[in-house]
Amino acid sequence: MTARLIDGKAVAATLRAEVAAKVRAAGFTPGLAVILVGGDPASSVYVRTKDRAAREAGIEARTIRLPAETTQSDLLGIIQALNEDPAIDGILVQLPLPRGIDAQAVIEAIDPAKDVDGFHPVNVGHLASGRPTLVPCTPLGVMKLLRVMGIETSGARAVVLGRSAIVGRPMASLLLTADATVTIAHSRTRDLPAECRGADILVAAVGRPEMVRADWIKPGATVIDVGINRLPDGRLVGDVAFESCSAVAGAITPVPGGVGPMTVACLLENTLTAALRRR
Ligand code: NDP
Repeated sequence: MTARLIDGKAVAATLRAEVAAKVRAAGFTPGLAVILVGGDPASSVYVRTKDRAAREAGIEARTIRLPAETTQSDLLGIIQALNEDPAIDGILVQLPLPRGIDAQAVIEAIDPAKDVDGFHPVNVGHLASGRPTLVPCTPLGVMKLLRVMGIETSGARAVVLGRSAIVGRPMASLLLTADATVTIAHSRTRDLPAECRGADILVAAVGRPEMVRADWIKPGATVIDVGINRLPDGRLVGDVAFESCSAVAGAITPVPGGVGPMTVACLLENTLTAALRRR
């Protein structure tokens, strides 16, 4: 079997164009504030990408770059000002934050109505209770890929590999809300390959280069690779051994060009959603 390729880049381009059209029709300019503390190179690249994508969609992007020495209290003060700023609809604090800043306290300081990352406990609670409001961008992007590819979630056995608050847990909640039978696997799971082999839909979000091998995949399964790993030789790979797994899977996302572009497109959509609700 040769898997269908799930082209996240193309799906994301369509979604971005849809968001841009809705922004034009809305008759106002949504505002997105992105806060970057310190100079982590990967975070700087992500922030630049988000800034450019927002502008292209007609969203006013305000990138706030703060030195690594910024105190938690200074950061909370900036968030408070953005919460009160009527021109700002979405606030995103790029993670990870430098040591000494409590990321959870920062997330909880963001007005839930402007929490376009969907990490605030209020939005996490809505998602966990099956009434998603602002949903974390990466799992939201995965759900859109499944929908566009016509992959049935209702009744499907889904295995989510990874249980982080950013990807694994919200991913499992969304799949459950979409009527899948969901297993969450993690570093303490016994016999990971056997768990994965039961999956009609396998979502890998562990951050371990090419950990998922071909004999972990049920023939014909849909394999979604969230992982982004930089190898010592500079190559970017996912958590799934792409070549061998695509010979077994029914559909598979590549890295790069799979889930990554959807994350950015869903951030734009969340910003528009937040703006339309607020205004
Ligand atoms: P975290 O490190 O927060 O979580 C990783 C999860 O994987 C944990 O639950 C951990 O288990 C589990 N895990 C780690 N090693 C193993 C193992 N050997 N066997 C089984 N489970 C394991 O990572 P994130 O969720 O933030 O990110 C995961 C990956 O997704 C990363 O590569 C990241 O770069 C990428 N990513 C990609 C995005 C995109 O837009 N495409 C967006 C966000 C992340 P335990 O809880 O037991 O420790």
